[in-house]
Amino acid sequence: MMTEDNFKFSTRAIRAGTHRTNEREHSEAIFPTSSFVFDSAQHAADVFSGEQKGNLYSRFTNPTVQAFEERLASLEGAQRCVATASGMASILTTCMSLLNAGDHVVVSRNVFGSIVVLFEQHLSRFGLEVDFVDLIDITSWEAAIKPNTKMLFLESPSNPLTQIGDITALADLAHNHNSLLVVDNVFCTPALQTPLALGADVVVHSATKYLDGQGRGIGGAVLGSNELMDKVFSFMRTAGPSMSPFNAWIFSKGLETLKIRMQAHCDNALILATWLEKQDSVQVVNYPGLSSHPQHQLALKQQSGFGGILSFEIEGGKAAAWRLMDNAKLACITANVGDTKTILTHPASTTHSRLSLEQKQQAGISDGLVRVSVGLEDIDDIKQDFAQSFI
Ligand SMILES: *Cc1c(COP(=O)(O)O)cnc(C)c1O
Repeated sequence: MMTEDNFKFSTRAIRAGTHRTNEREHSEAIFPTSSFVFDSAQHAADVFSGEQKGNLYSRFTNPTVQAFEERLASLEGAQRCVATASGMASILTTCMSLLNAGDHVVVSRNVFGSIVVLFEQHLSRFGLEVDFVDLIDITSWEAAIKPNTKMLFLESPSNPLTQIGDITALADLAHNHNSLLVVDNVFCTPALQTPLALGADVVVHSATKYLDGQGRGIGGAVLGSNELMDKVFSFMRTAGPSMSPFNAWIFSKGLETLKIRMQAHCDNALILATWLEKQDSVQVVNYPGLSSHPQHQLALKQQSGFGGILSFEIEGGKAAAWRLMDNAKLACITANVGDTKTILTHPASTTHSRLSLEQKQQAGISDGLVRVSVGLEDIDDIKQDFAQSFI
């Protein structure tokens, strides 16, 4: 029998979470409403008490948001998804739901800049203990674990160096120490990597990036078992970092083309990475698809593609990096990744500028490092743009 569960990825990306209304619309409807109407006072009381299922208020649930949640849960192979207002809200919500004051968290040093700030400057004020470790050094993870460790957190491939964390090994380590493994799956998306199948307990997303893929909105998601997501949902509906129905609609439509977009991003990125490696002024290219990447084999094992993000170090430090970026005619300088448009970022002076010099050095963010989110423009034009920018 053809049920939703045994449809293949692309079919689920297009069909999962479809709930046609009586209007018989083909494209999914949007429900931009803050609240929902009850038939009677009794009905309202029953929905409030949970005796009857139903929508009540869009901070809690909204049909458009639920459709997105069902679709993404299906793609990640998760029992349940809780959508959030942003990727950072998904991480905050995960921590507030699953941790307590006095708990200890081990976090990869090689994560999105705001994640470091969230743990170090904000969650620490509420009694959460945090230690940062090197993503690829398993012994440093093990050494950091304490009796009160409750969570390990990583991003793979990492931003912006594209280092690969061994998700299965770190899941085993977490479970041997009564901890949860949380994986930020923004760079791969479920089209290229499903961390839950590799042993992770929770996946967090910034839907802002590839899930939309066209730079149109801010959103996020937390995914995992019903047991964990009950806690996540309970915090989310009360504290309110909820996703807007307008954004949920955009993200649901984005998911429909996720697989073919990711494949095209991978193809363009590999060609550009290979070309960059041959340029005289380029000292190193970080892209998991290159055989020169130190963890190419691990990437092959746990991902079905290498993604659309690469970074490279240019000779001449910040001045050379900035000159190259200012010379670009096609690629834009903007604070996003995972867009159809090619994007250039200078991590040391933007995304990672809040890190101290020591933190930057530990995370490998040099002044000559340029991150490229390789878009879906014709690869010949992208290469040509870089060629004229190097001059
Ligand atoms: C952008 C990003 C986030 C944060 O998501 P927002 O939607 O900007 O809040 C988290 N992790 C990674 C890897 C990201 O690229």
